[in-house]
Amino acid sequence: MFELTAVLLRNLFRGPATRRYPHTVREPFPRTRGELENEIGRCTFCGLCVRRCPSRCLEVDPAAGVWRWDPFACIYCGVCVEACPVRCLSQKETGRRPATARETVLLQGTPRRRGGAQGKGGAGEEAGPEPS
Ligand code: SF4
Ligand code: SF4
Repeated sequence: MFELTAVLLRNLFRGPATRRYPHTVREPFPRTRGELENEIGRCTFCGLCVRRCPSRCLEVDPAAGVWRWDPFACIYCGVCVEACPVRCLSQKETGRRPATARETVLLQGTPRRRGGAQGKGGAGEEAGPEPS
């Protein structure tokens, strides 16, 4: 009984052992694997990230120059970031904000020309998120 009371008192006056969600409220942990970013102007639409993704939450359409990510299926493992040959993928140190509806992130870049070469043009623009 004495031990229980001591623990209760200690916990009562000690600071919180957890912190609020989302962790963007406070400083993120170092090396947090958060929201995925694609610098779409550098993406070659090679599809390697799609093939490596264990959750199958990525889609690439080279002919249309579209890269699509389903953040609700993503497990934030970072495998795609490691796999990308041009290093256009990265992860923020913060997670995505909660959402009330499921949505996918669609990024529009420069379509690849037939034969595999990427077409001329500037950096792509973000067309998403789009409802799924
Ligand atoms: S691996 Fe990189 S360059 Fe290839 S499609 Fe994915 S994001 Fe684009
Ligand atoms: S972080 Fe992992 S699960 Fe998410 S898109 Fe990349 S490879 Fe797929």
